[in-house]
Amino acid sequence: MKVRALKYIILGILIFIIFTIFFVSGSCKNTRSRNFNIVLIVIDTLRSDHLPFYGYKKNTAPFLNELSKKAVVFRNAYSASSWTSPATASIFTSLYPFQHGVLMGLHGIRIARKVNPDIKLNKIPAEITTITEVLKKKGYKTYGVADNWNIDEKQGFTQGFDKFQTFGYETAAVVNETLLKWQEEIMNIGKYFLYIHYMDPHVPYHRREPWYKPGKNKKEHRISCYDSEINYVDKHIREIFNSFLWDKNTLLIITSDHGEGLMDHLKWGHGNSLYREEIQVPLLIYLPGGKIYRRINTNVSTIDILPTVRDLTGLPVDRNDAGVSLVPLIENRKNNLHNRYLFSHLLWAKLAEREIEFRTTIYKDWHFIIRSPRKWKQEVGKEDDLSDAKYFGWRYLLRKPDNKELFNIKDDEKEEINKILAEGEIAGILEGKLKEFMVKCKKIKQKSFDYKLNKEEEKKLKSLGYIH
Ligand SMILES: [Zn+2]
Repeated sequence: MKVRALKYIILGILIFIIFTIFFVSGSCKNTRSRNFNIVLIVIDTLRSDHLPFYGYKKNTAPFLNELSKKAVVFRNAYSASSWTSPATASIFTSLYPFQHGVLMGLHGIRIARKVNPDIKLNKIPAEITTITEVLKKKGYKTYGVADNWNIDEKQGFTQGFDKFQTFGYETAAVVNETLLKWQEEIMNIGKYFLYIHYMDPHVPYHRREPWYKPGKNKKEHRISCYDSEINYVDKHIREIFNSFLWDKNTLLIITSDHGEGLMDHLKWGHGNSLYREEIQVPLLIYLPGGKIYRRINTNVSTIDILPTVRDLTGLPVDRNDAGVSLVPLIENRKNNLHNRYLFSHLLWAKLAEREIEFRTTIYKDWHFIIRSPRKWKQEVGKEDDLSDAKYFGWRYLLRKPDNKELFNIKDDEKEEINKILAEGEIAGILEGKLKEFMVKCKKIKQKSFDYKLNKEEEKKLKSLGYIH
């Protein structure tokens, strides 16, 4: 009997040891926790293919490149728009622009008012719970610094923030100055959510030394300036990362609101189209302690950021989110996320009396784009009102007769071969999914309001090259 009892005791101890090992190793792999800080960095106008860890030939971001070696990088991340206000509102709400209704920023309003003085500015409706409000409710102290005039109270971006500062393109150095001023408070307050919106790769591109290298022509010069701005912001992210000790106990998410046309489709800038160069953005997720390295090819969207944060902080799924949690991809668990249809939207209203609505569907290797004029009073091709057009490539748009395009983004990365006729069936499916989603999705009633730009704002828009 004694021998048998001893056997049971030994067996019990073995089972306990096995369970303990299993439990401890399991919890190490688990990405969920309840006490880390959350930092969301949006680098305005940063297309992913100009970063070294997305295959760019120049090392435009030594620090982010280093960080990426301890992080999850989504190789195919898309924004919900190619314009700051709608795209950033989508990051904040996990809704597409045609759902939250923020379609224009201050510049769009200014142009549109040339024709219709009654046009109103729209903002994130108060009844939508933003990422900030979600985290505030969960006990986070919330801070934000945005170096983009559009990201402020007027359009509802400050909902839920304990402290928020907006600048109008003062550079990353000024953003960091503010952060360093707040540092003591932030680091002693308990867990915090910090949103930082850098602006440096946006026009006007400066020559940032020592990174700028002269090009052979004007195009190369501009691209070299754009790249040097990425180096500049990278240097400032390194500074703030080290200062706030984000290598520990911090979930860091780095992305952009949209990309930038560098003459890929004969256009400079953004908000002109929904081609890849304008909507493909970096998405890097650094889990606390840098404990997961992974490269993910599945198409994802910036509207997935909020559901991912909910999941990582132990919050339940919210059915109103149009995005989904990326945690199954991060943890390399079985998932069906490669079967999703992603969308994007842009209301193009840069010229008086002309408004074009762009919508896209992305599914696996396919990218469908539809362009529909909403307002077209003036005769196309007139010389008079085209001063903006030269800069934004308006003439190119006029030359394109088709309003639907389909690209295979795997075989044709630059989106040069329109397969709309050759692959009509695929285009039909993608268009159908877009229409179906637009009919069925939840849309929040937009509350628009009058807003008159003050002199300082007019001046700022001018300095950003928006007003000529
Ligand atoms: Zn932007």
